[in-house]
Amino acid sequence: MRSITTLDIQYAHRFYGFRGEAQYLHGHTGVLTLEVEDSIEPGVNMVFPCNEIQKTAWAVLKNFDHALVLREDDPLLPAILDVYEKQGIKNGAPNNVMKGEAFKTELCTAYPDCRLVVTKETMTVEGMIKMVYELLKDKLNIAKITFTSGVNAASCEFETKNDIARCPLCGIALNDKGVCPKCGYKKQ
Ligand SMILES: [Zn+2]
Ligand SMILES: [Zn+2]
Repeated sequence: MRSITTLDIQYAHRFYGFRGEAQYLHGHTGVLTLEVEDSIEPGVNMVFPCNEIQKTAWAVLKNFDHALVLREDDPLLPAILDVYEKQGIKNGAPNNVMKGEAFKTELCTAYPDCRLVVTKETMTVEGMIKMVYELLKDKLNIAKITFTSGVNAASCEFETKNDIARCPLCGIALNDKGVCPKCGYKKQ
């Protein structure tokens, strides 16, 4: 069965080299739906608590929120970093606190200090699904990702078969010692 959760991500981007309005810098509220598939944990009668899926995903994905997402070859990238540098906000600012854990995959690198994600490919809805899967595939058993941004939407199904032991008392993933980080339950 599947547990399904949704997150909003607000971001700015553009499609560099694209012949259309999207070649200009603009922003969206994207809606990301994650479907996590597993057996039902009988103790709690659920696949996974949806707020825990959100927490796991958001720890990484908040780097996309209120961020600028640019392709690595976009000439706006050095131009913007130059402005941030001159303004003294390139390496962080006291009011930039909603930072996720920095990440780097084949497809994207996050720079949380200046709220920037640099991507290998254009960040279309399809591109976002590929990036999100790369970032979360080892943390969650993702069966499907749907991403909607304005009139654009895409979805993709995946086969992720991580063996994630869950707490029979609160449903969240046990750590590598078989202990629930939330309630302290220990697997016998
Ligand atoms: Zn757009
Ligand atoms: Zn627990």
